[in-house]
Amino acid sequence: MRAKCFLVIAAAAMVVATAQLSAQQSAAEANAEANRKITAEIKDHNELMKNLEYLSDMLGPRLTGSETLRKANLWAAEKFKEYSAENVHQEPWTLGRAWTRGRAEGRILAPAEHRVTLASYGWAAGTKGMVRGPVVYLKVSKLEDLEPFKGKLKNAVVILFSPRQLEKPPETPLLVPYEEYAVPMNAYKPQMNFRFFAPIYKFLTEQGAGALLMPSNKDYDLLFMFGLGYLGSGADPAMATAESWSVAPTPAAYIAWEDYNLIWRLLQRGQVEMELELDNSYSDKPVEVYNTVAEIKGSQKPDEVVLLGAHLDSWDLGTGATDNGTGVAVVLEAARALLRSGVKPKRTIRFVLFTGEEEGAFGSKAYVKAHQTELAKISGVLVHDLGTGKVVSLGLEANYQAREVMDEVILGSMRDLHLLEPTLRPFLSTDNASFNAVGVPGFQAIQERLDYNQTHHSQADTFDRVHEDGLIQGAQVLARWAFNVAELPDLLPRKPQLQQEKH
Ligand SMILES: [Zn+2]
Repeated sequence: MRAKCFLVIAAAAMVVATAQLSAQQSAAEANAEANRKITAEIKDHNELMKNLEYLSDMLGPRLTGSETLRKANLWAAEKFKEYSAENVHQEPWTLGRAWTRGRAEGRILAPAEHRVTLASYGWAAGTKGMVRGPVVYLKVSKLEDLEPFKGKLKNAVVILFSPRQLEKPPETPLLVPYEEYAVPMNAYKPQMNFRFFAPIYKFLTEQGAGALLMPSNKDYDLLFMFGLGYLGSGADPAMATAESWSVAPTPAAYIAWEDYNLIWRLLQRGQVEMELELDNSYSDKPVEVYNTVAEIKGSQKPDEVVLLGAHLDSWDLGTGATDNGTGVAVVLEAARALLRSGVKPKRTIRFVLFTGEEEGAFGSKAYVKAHQTELAKISGVLVHDLGTGKVVSLGLEANYQAREVMDEVILGSMRDLHLLEPTLRPFLSTDNASFNAVGVPGFQAIQERLDYNQTHHSQADTFDRVHEDGLIQGAQVLARWAFNVAELPDLLPRKPQLQQEKH
């Protein structure tokens, strides 16, 4: 009896175990099938280049606060709707001032005449007509060094850096391992901590300087671009917010290295005279800017969210094709492919096209603020914002707690995409940082660098610098990452929020 009873129990246990095993097997098979479908949908039917060409060429550069960015918001929303995404809407936030680039011209007048390549900084004031003055080199390593220049800078064209030897560019391998990515992207960029720069700039304004000229960080006459709105409010620049973002009072421009070095050489021979005209305009009051949002509702846990992001705004020398039109096209394509392949993620997958990234990740900061009560239910965020190269790995931004489960996803369900093991190294250079700062795992796609150093923020950031293969693979990584994270048994583990507790 006893023996028989034991056998019956053993047999029953085996049936249960077998049932569990086959349930696990079929779940794994269903997951593999969903992953295959998403990959094939993107490979065979993607609209990446079509969308990106329209965004870059037909809409154009998308400066935060501009009418073009607003048009791009509406266009992206229409795309999400066309793909049958749900809950498509625009979420507003406020920028202190809108700014519009006008004409920029500059010439060296003496000792010999040369036309130079330059462009005004974003959110810098214009010159109100032509400014003529001597070039003055301010050699400043500490603020006391400014003293001798008091009363001597009226209408001067000020420079702050010694010249740079334009060397043969290094051989850039196509694939830079992510361990090396931590080398500053623009290693030869003239660096000045803004804590140090802000009082120098204030001094130039007080002294009535005509303009500040900064060398670009790129070769072959390419310019760089950056916004000075944090100097516009007069408050501590470290405290600058989207609302306080304003127009910096002294005209400032980037000039090509070749021209910068020419000015320097002439300066070694004596006085250099220049004339500049920077013709910018700006709004007289704050403007509304929008993040564009769309969703695929989760089939089992709709209130829990996995978020994919990129930024819709761009600088305006080129058309923002690689920064970050590529990310926008990839996020749109991830949405399209997830919806068209008919997979039913358990959790909600949300797509957010942020704005104001270039000025200080303002759109994602506003998003985090507006969604405070929901943050505990956002499992994780993945942002694609490093140009047109293939995704090499995921940057976990020191989220050690999420490492094991991300390893399992990358080396399990996503194995065929051959990504490297996720890296814990912090990059925090784009919108994912806004989430990471409030304890939501905010990851970044680590991409092959290609010529991103040259294109981003420059005149060369145009559609013909985009490589389709990188975008196809990028869309596959983002769509499948979102799907697989949405399918996990639990939300991604959080890193301890020591800093938050202190506040
Ligand atoms: Zn970007």
